[in-house]
Amino acid sequence: MKIYRYPERETWPDLVKRPVFKREEISGLIEEIFAAVEKDGDHALIQLNKKFDKAVTPEIAVSEVEWQNVENEIPEALKKAIRQAKENISKFHAAQITETEKIETTKGVICWRENRAVEKVGIYIPGGTAPLFSTVLMLAVPANLAGCKEIILCTPPDSNGNINPAILFTAKLCGITKIFKTGGAQAIAAMTLGTVSIPKVYKIFGPGNQFVVAAKEYAQRYGVAIDMPAGPSEVLVIADSQAVPDFCAADLLSQAEHGSDSQVVFITTDLKIFTETIEAVEKQVAKLPRNEMARQALDHSLFILINSVEEALQFSNLYAPEHLILALEDFEKSIPVIVNAGSVFLGNYSCESAGDYASGTNHTLPTNAYAKNYSGVSLDSFVKKITFQHLSREGLKNIGKTIEIMAEAEGLIAHKNAVSIRLK
Ligand code: NAD
Repeated sequence: MKIYRYPERETWPDLVKRPVFKREEISGLIEEIFAAVEKDGDHALIQLNKKFDKAVTPEIAVSEVEWQNVENEIPEALKKAIRQAKENISKFHAAQITETEKIETTKGVICWRENRAVEKVGIYIPGGTAPLFSTVLMLAVPANLAGCKEIILCTPPDSNGNINPAILFTAKLCGITKIFKTGGAQAIAAMTLGTVSIPKVYKIFGPGNQFVVAAKEYAQRYGVAIDMPAGPSEVLVIADSQAVPDFCAADLLSQAEHGSDSQVVFITTDLKIFTETIEAVEKQVAKLPRNEMARQALDHSLFILINSVEEALQFSNLYAPEHLILALEDFEKSIPVIVNAGSVFLGNYSCESAGDYASGTNHTLPTNAYAKNYSGVSLDSFVKKITFQHLSREGLKNIGKTIEIMAEAEGLIAHKNAVSIRLK
């Protein structure tokens, strides 16, 4: 843990830097992986599964046999939980569907926008250290609501060459039938370039580790779109004197356990809460099955004592966390001040896991300060918006002069003529 008491403002830009790999350290590897997949397709994927996931996968696509019985492998309680989470995520995302509104900007000039789903989408489900079947819901539910025609899914196989049954069950529940056993940069390369088994897609979604994020960035060179850079998880907790140290510690650890490259930040104005939260973290981490990973994340995580909630919010806006928790008595007052954050959790009972699994909001969120310029995944991520317009003769007459004058001033006489010829 890195502990700071009332750090000077000049030190903040250094404090908000994430413990990420240097891009140049992995860019060569990403290029090599793309080149191998481009050249050898499925065969390269089989080799890379062996190399990075210690998995033997003679077939890349999940077979009919593997689909069968998947329902029997999942406990009833888990199936029920997944269904309830799906219902809430569906409700929240369905409310994002907007009605088309036609606007008459000038008499006879009518403009509007219509949504069209991205036809082919690829979703990446992390599976390196934990099989994140919850991410299937977060991506497949809005993709279905948006009306995407083809949804494919890639996720790393386990060392036996299998996909976790909860991922398969959740995918089936969401109507996804094309699932491929490949993870990391090679999965992103396959969805970008296409192989015999894996179809090329137009847009790639989903979180992942540094390799996945770097590969998604690289994929854009081939004209594929991505949702956003969603890398190693982060949470920033701001607490005042009424916060509960045990709750704060549990929230911090819920992100620290994601991976050694996750980062958690705790900021408080209260010395007692500061010391008690650090003690609670020490106590709780020891009991976690993934305590080794969580401890590594804690090594580079920040615990900051600060003068005021206002200052804490300024620090948070500079850090731009993926998740922000306000364990504050008067959290309402802080809401308008938040400028940069992926998803915000208000008060002592809004734990981040609620948003991770079941409250309804999306857990695929921008990390590494990208909350300054990206939103998390939503229904909008799966649609393009096409503008339409219809001008009557009267409409063109009403704005014709404006167009002609502007076109002439730009020296684009053919543009001017397109109006003049119609109004002659
Ligand atoms: P992952 O599926 O992202 O990565 C596993 C893959 O990484 C492996 O299949 C392998 O191909 C590749 N890999 C591993 N080591 C490699 C190496 N040395 N060289 C090349 N490739 C290598 O699973 P993960 O590792 O468990 O990471 C999941 C990540 O997703 C975590 O960092 C977690 O914090 C993050 N996450 C982010 C969000 C978000 O919205 N931002 C949500 C959930 C999870």
